[in-house]
Amino acid sequence: MSNITFTMIKPDAVSNGHSGKIIDQIIQAGFTIQAMKYVRLSKETAGSFYGIHRERPFFNDLVEFMTSGTIVAAILVKENAVADFRNLIGATDPKKAEPGTIRNLFAKSIEANAMHGSDSDENAANEANFFFSAFERF
Ligand code: UDP
Ligand code: MG
Repeated sequence: MSNITFTMIKPDAVSNGHSGKIIDQIIQAGFTIQAMKYVRLSKETAGSFYGIHRERPFFNDLVEFMTSGTIVAAILVKENAVADFRNLIGATDPKKAEPGTIRNLFAKSIEANAMHGSDSDENAANEANFFFSAFERF
């Protein structure tokens, strides 16, 4: 059971004006925000963040997409944060995401899928530390 997860509102959702609705949905689902900021990723930073996918066919497009606009990065706190947040955002492919999930409501495609959510407690801690220093976390 974890207390934190890391998320990004991806460039598609930010540029389409969905950030406010998404943050509201996150808060209404019981998460509190420990840290949050606007970020524009470099190719190097995006490639490093998604390094586990480096050999996958979609890697270059994913880096291109993630550097195409501003994102909102955040650390969220809740009991069972990682699993509960994955349920809130829905499946990677929005066509397979349950009705009412953030990806079902706001994602355009399997690549431009509106949100990131950590997939384990260990990755949540690493991803939170990758984006935020101690004095940015409350
Ligand atoms: N992705 C993609 N094509 C795919 C699978 C994934 O473009 O076939 C992108 C998508 O933006 C996804 C990210 O790569 O969110 C990371 O993939 P992962 O399998 O970790 O999905 P997630 O954990 O984000 O649901
Ligand atoms: Mg993942």
